Amino acid sequence: MTSTNSSPIRLVIHGGAGTISRSRLTPEREQAYRQVLAESLTAGHAVLKAGGSSVDAVIAAIVVMEDSPLFNAGKGAVFSHEGRNELDASIMEGVTRMAGAVAGVTSIRNPIRAAHAVMTNSAHVMLIGHGAETFAAEQGLTIVDPAYFYTQHRWDQLQKAIAKEQVVRDHDMESSAPLPNGDEKYGTVGAVALDCYGNLAAGTSTGGLTNKRYGRVGDSPIIGAGTYADNRSVAVSATGSGEIFIRAAAAFNTAAQVRLQQIPVAEAADRTLAEIATLGGDGGLIVLNAAGNFAARFNTSGMYRGAIGDDGIARTGVFPADPIS
Ligand code: ASP
Repeated sequence: MTSTNSSPIRLVIHGGAGTISRSRLTPEREQAYRQVLAESLTAGHAVLKAGGSSVDAVIAAIVVMEDSPLFNAGKGAVFSHEGRNELDASIMEGVTRMAGAVAGVTSIRNPIRAAHAVMTNSAHVMLIGHGAETFAAEQGLTIVDPAYFYTQHRWDQLQKAIAKEQVVRDHDMESSAPLPNGDEKYGTVGAVALDCYGNLAAGTSTGGLTNKRYGRVGDSPIIGAGTYADNRSVAVSATGSGEIFIRAAAAFNTAAQVRLQQIPVAEAADRTLAEIATLGGDGGLIVLNAAGNFAARFNTSGMYRGAIGDDGIARTGVFPADPIS
């Protein structure tokens, strides 16, 4: 089956929004990140081009970023106060509005796959901790030793955050505490997709905040906050100050504005981000509608992002002026 149906295909991704400074992001580093973004786009596009579903495209795209040490999800996840990598992820399908999520998991290699298994093979929407890990193992997903998630630069970040008694979002750490090697760290990852059947899907995956404790969970695994998809409006994935995105019901809020007020996707994203700012937060949103129109908006200095459509050309961006359409 190929995508000869009437609907255009589209995939939009993000790799986190934050304080990304040109002076600290060397061309080589930028290229490395753009490379993974392009691989993610290409993986998701292959699914869509072959007539696969938007849900499967979202998973394919996110798995690439989860498997990369460059992003704060899966392999590149940040450390909690206790020195663990506690991962959160969610996924939602726009045609049925079915959804699945996991939170606080420490041994599931690809949390987005576990979120999908919750959506498709359980009666629930969200599973957490050990229970989620047991479920994932029963579903045949890849379980790893928690040491798989160890990366030196994330460990170093944790030591700095502990020393400063800070709970830090990836990019906030960028600006305040540059690492000796000048490395840049990035946030949460997400994807929104439109398949050839006209169906939308959204997914988000993260390691959360460096030095988080007490089982803190942000917006990323919360349906309506970090992720939302509804064929009647849009698919949305968020990155940013998780607590504020939860309080603003950011992803649902964006979708509801498009559905009820019939406003363009970029305007809906900007309104949500303005509300986030009012509450003292910042971050970014990717938004895609069933016509293939999309926006990647942020009120931070940068957001790792990319888009791909029928032409199969992967376009990636970091700074505000970078075009991805
Ligand atoms: N929103 C994520 C969280 O609060 C963090 C991020 O987007 O970087 O867990």
